[in-house]
Amino acid sequence: MTRRLLALSLLLALAACVRNPLTGKRQFSLVSTQEEISIGQQAAKDVQQSIGLLPNPQVQEYVARVGKELAAKSERPELPWSFQVLDDPTVNAFALPGGPIFITRGILTHMNSEAELAAVLGHEIGHVTARHSADQITRAQVAQLGLGLGSVLSPDLAKYGELASAGLGLMLLKYGRNAETQSDELGLRYMLDARYDPREMLDLFRMLSRVQEGQEGGRLPTWLATHPNPGDRLNETQKRIAGLGGVDLSTLRTEQVPYLRLLQGVPYGENPRQGFFQGTRFFHPELRFQLDFPAGWKTANQTQAVLGVSPKQDALLGLALAGNVPPEQALRQFLTQQGVQPLPVATEGLPPQASYFQANTEQGAVQGLTAFFSHGGTTYQLLGYTAAGQLPAYDPAFRATFTSFRELTDPAMLGVQPARLELVTLPEAMTLERFHARYPSTAPLEEVALINGVTPGDTLPAGQLVKRVVGGALPTPR
Ligand SMILES: [Zn+2]
Repeated sequence: MTRRLLALSLLLALAACVRNPLTGKRQFSLVSTQEEISIGQQAAKDVQQSIGLLPNPQVQEYVARVGKELAAKSERPELPWSFQVLDDPTVNAFALPGGPIFITRGILTHMNSEAELAAVLGHEIGHVTARHSADQITRAQVAQLGLGLGSVLSPDLAKYGELASAGLGLMLLKYGRNAETQSDELGLRYMLDARYDPREMLDLFRMLSRVQEGQEGGRLPTWLATHPNPGDRLNETQKRIAGLGGVDLSTLRTEQVPYLRLLQGVPYGENPRQGFFQGTRFFHPELRFQLDFPAGWKTANQTQAVLGVSPKQDALLGLALAGNVPPEQALRQFLTQQGVQPLPVATEGLPPQASYFQANTEQGAVQGLTAFFSHGGTTYQLLGYTAAGQLPAYDPAFRATFTSFRELTDPAMLGVQPARLELVTLPEAMTLERFHARYPSTAPLEEVALINGVTPGDTLPAGQLVKRVVGGALPTPR
């Protein structure tokens, strides 16, 4: 309680009245521009670490070039803007305070022109220039203080708690409807100033509507979790474009071909090389291991950890990378953290560097089991914990997961590859159905239609670049 109050007063001390660059009005904000930038940079590091960037310099440079050109047309060109593509299959984009903007490879693979990309980036730039992100982070901080999320004493536990719940929470907060409308307007203006055809923004909204109908899974929630009603926004944008008297839209650029060529070979959907579940069993081909989770638990594969949460959400199990510290030293460091005490319970049958423990957190005392061990030259940590008193109930599940860790040796599992996009230049006009029969995809026809921005039954013209999805089938475990 005292810690919370202290944190709140520190925040209030930082409070400043900042002039809104768009309206010129001074508005109450908890963060100055410098604070806004440093909060954003810190959050950007967390995002990069927990989700990971797409390892494709060509794609990263392309997106950054388009983003920087648009940001230069904005009201805050002096901000340290950055535009990066996350290696995540969900259809998403978001802005952090002070300039970092992230889009996923999932949204990239669903778009069909540079102008559509400009529509997404322009909208996100709008959130930053109008300081929506700064206001949002302010609310996120206050919410965090109120709920005590991710504020467990032990840094190790905090790391897990954060990954499990609050870590990316700041992206989940919705901006108000007015903020969304304002960002759409701003995005449209930046697009026009950079000579992109604003009608491509309509294609973006159409795609988002269709994604909403067939929600796909992924590590991140989709853009639709924070941006509802793409249909309404499409209508509003249509009216705005109709009101652009005197602009000859046909002279503006869409840059379809260079954009589509960029997508050649880009992974599509989940990348199983970063780990995947088959039932309750988790396989990680790159790190060469497998691990079983209890049946019925909700699981999540993060960059730094793979986690399971009990059906009642009162116990957490996970495996995380613990770095280059030898297991003995890592266990000692874990048990000597402030607020953590080892419990004298026997650990036979578990790895040699294992211990039961109790830890005091702001949510109360927790009890659990941890083990550190070496695999492939890296130290790993297994951790299971629950509220004090519940440990006897969860101990068998913790032990079953801890002892299920195995080296992955099945060559079929080790060699698994993601599905990828392949671009086909049509030798003649054909229907989408004919395209799908002649150039088969490992994705169904409806999905091929969606990612190409067409509908089944449409005829595609000769010379058109069309996406197909190749590879990505998962082997059945032996
Ligand atoms: Zn938005």
